[in-house]
Amino acid sequence: MSKIFAIANQKGGVGKTSVAVNLSASMAHYGKRVLLVDLDPQGNATTGSGIDKSAVENTVYEMLLGESTAADARVRAEGNYDVIAANRNLAGAEIEMIDIERREFRLKDALDALRDDYDFMVIDSPPALNMLTVNGFTAADSVIIPMQCEYYALEGLSDLVGTLRKVKANLNSRIEIEALVRTMFDPRSTLTQQVSDEIKKHYGDKVFDTVIPRNIRIAEAPSFGKPVLLHDPQSKGALSHLAFARELLDRQGVPVKGAAA
Ligand code: ATP
Ligand code: MG
Repeated sequence: MSKIFAIANQKGGVGKTSVAVNLSASMAHYGKRVLLVDLDPQGNATTGSGIDKSAVENTVYEMLLGESTAADARVRAEGNYDVIAANRNLAGAEIEMIDIERREFRLKDALDALRDDYDFMVIDSPPALNMLTVNGFTAADSVIIPMQCEYYALEGLSDLVGTLRKVKANLNSRIEIEALVRTMFDPRSTLTQQVSDEIKKHYGDKVFDTVIPRNIRIAEAPSFGKPVLLHDPQSKGALSHLAFARELLDRQGVPVKGAAA
């Protein structure tokens, strides 16, 4: 029975997709069976996993509209995890889902069929609190929130937490915050430190010890269609993502075989 993480923050460009792709690759590296679900019409998690988003026959869009099963929509990525791809068609799904029954549950209902096939599912959300994101929250067991330690970082979080509260009350009583992960972290910046302290004050031990540094290898890996672990396994970026995955697995009490991060 897989555990499902939604990666979400309605703020754009904070590192959601980077965390989704690299967490999937890192957990696969640790021998876990992983499915990455791209729930963003930008399709960045799809491309970043080396999959041609215009060539995939069945995507998350067909799956949400009931035209494909989850099993028929998954494709294998080079990083040893499976992907349910997204492309621009998904942008229309929100409107097309208005009249559909159980519209908040479409993703959950589809993914439930695969819960014995994977140890973990990772859902990459779009930078919005819309019907797609709500589908992700309804399907998920918990939420991982990537955030950049900059001045406005905390402002958007209250909207996110408010949405999660509503989802918990009405759609998915299991949902909780799993982790806040600080991305593009620059330890030399005073502002980074101040915002980081503030985040810890509000969210305590939900804030993971592992930080993801600003690292050029992480930024360039998607242009090769690879997780950073395959692009440059010894880079600080790859090691930090392995460490993050390891902290996540440790906190679940899931044993990790093989090399230390
Ligand atoms: P969106 O809201 O558009 O979906 P996002 O939250 O998914 O964005 P990413 O696409 O993961 O954010 O990252 C935004 C940009 O920053 C990308 O160009 C990515 O390659 C780069 N980036 C992400 N993480 C890092 C990092 N740790 N170091 C350097 N660059 C990074
Ligand atoms: Mg993204």
